[in-house]
Amino acid sequence: MTKKLIVITGASSGFGMEMAKEFSNDGYPLLLLARRVEKMEGLNLPNTICKKVDVTDKTAFEAAVREAEEQYGKTDLLVNNAGVMLLGDIATQDAAEWKKMLDVNVMGVMNGMQIVMNDMKKNRTGTIINVSSIAGVQPFGAHGAYCASKFGVTGLTRVARGEMAGHNVRVLSICPGAVGTELLSHTTDQAIIDGYTDWKESVGAVNITAADVARTIKFTYELPQAVSLREIVITDTMQDA
Ligand code: NDP
Repeated sequence: MTKKLIVITGASSGFGMEMAKEFSNDGYPLLLLARRVEKMEGLNLPNTICKKVDVTDKTAFEAAVREAEEQYGKTDLLVNNAGVMLLGDIATQDAAEWKKMLDVNVMGVMNGMQIVMNDMKKNRTGTIINVSSIAGVQPFGAHGAYCASKFGVTGLTRVARGEMAGHNVRVLSICPGAVGTELLSHTTDQAIIDGYTDWKESVGAVNITAADVARTIKFTYELPQAVSLREIVITDTMQDA
């Protein structure tokens, strides 16, 4: 059977790049989106369109999805994975950093959902997986605005799940704990980066990998359409919080 189109945002590194490799290995056609298009093109994956898209630009995001759908048919899975983490204390952090996180992590996800939801409803099939975080279900120090954005993703996913359930469309979220990717490098406060690194060392090595997360997402998607693994919290076994 011909495999259906999968759209992955934030595919230029970390979880998104690992997902691209995992899904492509199994022959899925892909649309990969991020700003660093050369990183995605460098993967050289077959049946894959790579587009330089900022997920906060809904017009560009939608144009890329429609172009890929012309070639491969309607999107069957959208993984809203693009995100930024700028850790900081609420009392001192620059509001521009809060805005960036809310724009990318929340508005970017909502943009993606609206782009695919109507066709999924009409066709009575499809899956949306939003990458939230363990910081989207519980608080962590210096994560104020990041938690606000990820609790936002958890909340909007739960609402959308209810709205889409009657249309046989799955809306799921995955909430990973700490995994080594480029994510921490976005934070501009060196003391917080050092504190985070010390915490990771104090709980033991973080051995869970981006590939583990990618495989979990693929497993979740490949369950029958009637099976909704609604919310997954996945961490390193050694993570104690
Ligand atoms: P990375 O920093 O490695 O990857 C983030 C990806 O998002 C990159 O491909 C980046 O691409 C993309 N991105 C960032 N901003 C935009 C934008 N405005 N438009 C389009 N793409 C964008 O981090 P991870 O792989 O770790 O992060 C993936 C997701 O997982 C994020 O939502 C993150 O919050 C979440 N997460 C990560 C955890 C971890 O410990 N690693 C834990 C819990 C959740 P580019 O810069 O090229 O645009």
